[in-house]
Amino acid sequence: MKTWPDLAVPPVDLAFPPLILNATSGARELESSSNNFKMYVCGITPYDATHLGHAATYLTFDLVNRYLRASGKNVSFVENITDIDDPLFERAARDNQSWQELGNSQVALFTGDMTALRILPPTAYVSVTEAMSSIILAIELLAEKGFTYECAGNTYFRTTNFLTTLPIAIDDALRVFAERGGDPQTAGKEHPLDPILWVAKKAGEPSWISKLGEGRPGWHVECTVIALENLLGIGYLEETKVGEIAIDLQGGGSDLIFPHHFMTAAIGKALTGIDFAASYVHAGMVGLDGEKMSKSKGNLVLVSNLIASGIDPMVIRFALMDSHYSKERMWSAGLIPIAQARVERIRSALSRSEVAPTDKLFRDIASALGNDLNTPSALALIDTWVEETEAGSIGGSAGEMSRFLDATLGLAL
Ligand code: ZN
Repeated sequence: MKTWPDLAVPPVDLAFPPLILNATSGARELESSSNNFKMYVCGITPYDATHLGHAATYLTFDLVNRYLRASGKNVSFVENITDIDDPLFERAARDNQSWQELGNSQVALFTGDMTALRILPPTAYVSVTEAMSSIILAIELLAEKGFTYECAGNTYFRTTNFLTTLPIAIDDALRVFAERGGDPQTAGKEHPLDPILWVAKKAGEPSWISKLGEGRPGWHVECTVIALENLLGIGYLEETKVGEIAIDLQGGGSDLIFPHHFMTAAIGKALTGIDFAASYVHAGMVGLDGEKMSKSKGNLVLVSNLIASGIDPMVIRFALMDSHYSKERMWSAGLIPIAQARVERIRSALSRSEVAPTDKLFRDIASALGNDLNTPSALALIDTWVEETEAGSIGGSAGEMSRFLDATLGLAL
C-alpha cells in the first residue's frame, strides 16, 4: 500500500539515554540486539473515521520511532491495514457500499491525518489483501504443525499450549474476547478462547482458495504474518533460530492487549518456535469530557474535522503530547486554546535572534523522553526555556532548538 509522504528528520548531535517504557510487557528497556530496531504497530480497520484516540496511539509510536532514530538506531517500522475483517464487511453491508470503496475512503482520511500530524510513515505499510498469499501459506503451515482444527466449517487456532501466559484472568478474558471480535460461545470449540484463523466463504464477502477450503483469514493471524514477513524477510519461517525473539516491539492501543496482541504472539510462536516480540507497548485510550469516545455515543472527535475548522495540526499534536501516552486520557475543546497559546509563545521565542541556552535543555528533554516518553515534562521544560528567552537570557541557538523539536517531538514550528 502506498504510504504517506516521508519527512526529513534533522540530525541531532546528542547522546540519548536508553529508552525505557513502563507501559510495557516484556523487556522493560527498549534495547535491540542489533542497531536495527524492528517495530510493528497495529494499523486501522478502515470501516469508520479515525479519531483522536487513533491519532494519540500513532503519535506514541512516532515518538518511539523518533527517539530511537535520534539515538542512532535504524528503525524498521511496519504498520498494517486490516482491510479484511468482520467490522469492515458488516459496515459496508449495512451502508450498501463495497468494502473496497469504504476501506479506500477511510485509509485516505487516515493517511491525511497522519501527514498533517507529522507522523513519520512506516517503512512498509501493508494491507491484508496485499499479504494474502503469505497469510494463507502461514495458516496452511499451522495446520500441518497441528495447531488448527475445524469447527462449524471454520478453522480455529488451538490456544491450549499458550494459555499460561494469558495477560488477564480467564473470566475477564472470556468476556473481553466476546467484546472484541471473538466467539467464545460457539459450540464444539476445543477451548472458548480459540480464535478463528480461516473463515469459510460467506455470501457477500471476498474469498480466496486455500488448502483449508475457500474463505478468508481471521484478524490476529493477519498481523502476525505481516509483521514477521516484513520485519524478518520472506524467508522468516526457515531462517529464524531457536532462542531468538522475532521482533523488538509490537505496539497499539490498550484495547489490543487482549485478545489481539496475545493471539498474534501465540500464533507467531506456533509458526516460528520463537517468541514473537521482546516488548508489547500500549497507548491509553482517549475519552471526551469525562466519557469514553465512541461512535455509538456520537462523541468522536475527528482530527480531519479539527484541521478543517482551522486548527493548526501542530497545536493538536502539542495538546496530545501534554498528557502521558500510557494514561487513560480525557480530551476537551478547552485544551486547544491552551496549546495554541503555548505553541505561539514557542514560535515567537524561536524567531528571536538571541535565545536562552539550549545545550542543557536538549539533555533534559532527552532525559524526560527516555524516561517513559514523559512528554508533559518535556513540554514544561520548553515553556521554561521560553520564559528565560523572553526575560532576555542568551547563549542558545534558535536554529538548533527548531531542529531538535522537530527531530524528537515532531513539532515543526
Ligand atoms: Zn494487529
